[in-house]
Amino acid sequence: MAQKLLDIISNLPSPALKRAYVIYMLNEKVQEKIADNLADKINITAFSRGTLTIETPSHAWAQELQFQKERIKEILKEDKLVIKKINIFVNTSKKEVMDQDKKDEKECQNCGRLILGRGNTCPQCKNTQEKKINSAIRSIIKETPWLKYTEAKEVIDQDFSEDQFIAVRERLRSETFDYLKKFSYELHTKGSPVLRKELQQRAVFYTMLKNLLTIDKINDKIIRRCLGGMLHSVIYKKTSKNEEFR
Ligand SMILES: [Zn+2]
Repeated sequence: MAQKLLDIISNLPSPALKRAYVIYMLNEKVQEKIADNLADKINITAFSRGTLTIETPSHAWAQELQFQKERIKEILKEDKLVIKKINIFVNTSKKEVMDQDKKDEKECQNCGRLILGRGNTCPQCKNTQEKKINSAIRSIIKETPWLKYTEAKEVIDQDFSEDQFIAVRERLRSETFDYLKKFSYELHTKGSPVLRKELQQRAVFYTMLKNLLTIDKINDKIIRRCLGGMLHSVIYKKTSKNEEFR
């Protein structure tokens, strides 16, 4: 084993690579054989002329390692490495942060891009996915405006929250109301029967959406209460003289 290790090292092309490999092997060896609770608290950073340098994340662990110096020498002696001296340094940031990063690092489920932190998709894919779900929610609400979150979950085969569902519904509701207001003014001035019919359909939709009512529950009184008297009278009463003659 020891001979094989030396063979590998002597065949490496550059001194820097040789050093890196030695450090790597020393870490592997010690971490494998030392007590489990210490393994990830030991980071060997240098080995030169019989002196081993170890970094550890806290003073408490440094103290613990002081008691393990002989054990570490023993482990490496198995590979015919004679350690004369062990220096222990505390590095509070590096190792733990590195380990944490490695733990949090994963690939985006969708595109394979490397991501950190929570979730399984990268921000870009998440955004695209959210837009896709929103548009699915929107079209189902357009068909059945009285649909509740739990009912929508049964129809749409995607994962979305109640907040997301309500946000889409609320946007559609306010868009519809803005449309009614804007075009009722046009209806008031021009009196187009086609526009009137369209606005009446939208007014019914708006009433169903706002009150989560099915079509059979809709009547003129409810629409009027929902739209307000002004808007209702423009959309439902023939106020334009032009239209009366058509
Ligand atoms: Zn992605």
